[in-house]
Amino acid sequence: MEVEIIERSDNRMRFLLSGVTPAMANALRRVLISEIPKMAIDELIIYENTSALYDEQIALRMALIPIKADIRVYYFPEECRCGGKGCSLCQVIFTLDEVGPKTVYSGDLKSSDPEVKIVSPKIPIVKLKEGQRIRLEAIARLGTGKKHAKWQCAVACGYKNLPRISVSQECNLCERCIEACPRGVLRESGGKIELFNPADCTMCKLCVDSCEREALKLEFDESKFVFQFESDGSMKTDEMVVEAVNILKDKVEELTKILEGL
Ligand code: SF4
Ligand code: SF4
Ligand SMILES: [Zn+2]
Repeated sequence: MEVEIIERSDNRMRFLLSGVTPAMANALRRVLISEIPKMAIDELIIYENTSALYDEQIALRMALIPIKADIRVYYFPEECRCGGKGCSLCQVIFTLDEVGPKTVYSGDLKSSDPEVKIVSPKIPIVKLKEGQRIRLEAIARLGTGKKHAKWQCAVACGYKNLPRISVSQECNLCERCIEACPRGVLRESGGKIELFNPADCTMCKLCVDSCEREALKLEFDESKFVFQFESDGSMKTDEMVVEAVNILKDKVEELTKILEGL
């Protein structure tokens, strides 16, 4: 397996994965979206809510606020020594006490652990009119996307086979295909039409349709994948890949043990 980074930032990653089967690429995608632990608000204790929103609507909004935490410091509630009752090893408490008139934002939440932070402080939770108040405690716990989407840190996660073109002898270098390409990834080089940036090709086939001589064919490489995903901000993308690969490795080892025991 080979990995070549195409684009990398804390919130977005795109890489070329070579020498793997579609099953392997899909396994990585599934682990990224459903198995990486993440902290999310899981329970609310509402003392006062005189806003226009029901308690349930506020709970739904708050559950989807991305939270940044070191996942190695906390336990899943079901694996914690407290037996899931709730303690400082398996939960973080955010408090909120605001009076209108104002818009209450995610940044108004105060964390019981300074190392566990709200990723974006400008997510609106509720708008309070004069005299309205919201006072609550929000309990955040570790979970995975397999259980609920609020614990999913990878978004827009997917892959496609690496496109390639073949051009027959019928080509007269009219360059219509180059003009038709909306991504600007075709060029003429050394008397040939070339796909010089295949990772950016969307496989729209406009180049194929524009060729009156039917000289151009669009194909794809079955062992190469352009893989991409984004982070909701709760974890850096490179940490997510490392975490996903480790989880995948553990799963393979577990399966191997089971098969050996048969
Ligand atoms: S449109 Fe067809 S004939 Fe014209 S340059 Fe492209 S491949 Fe060649
Ligand atoms: S398939 Fe679309 S994006 Fe890809 S080379 Fe052809 S025109 Fe450009
Ligand atoms: Zn606990």
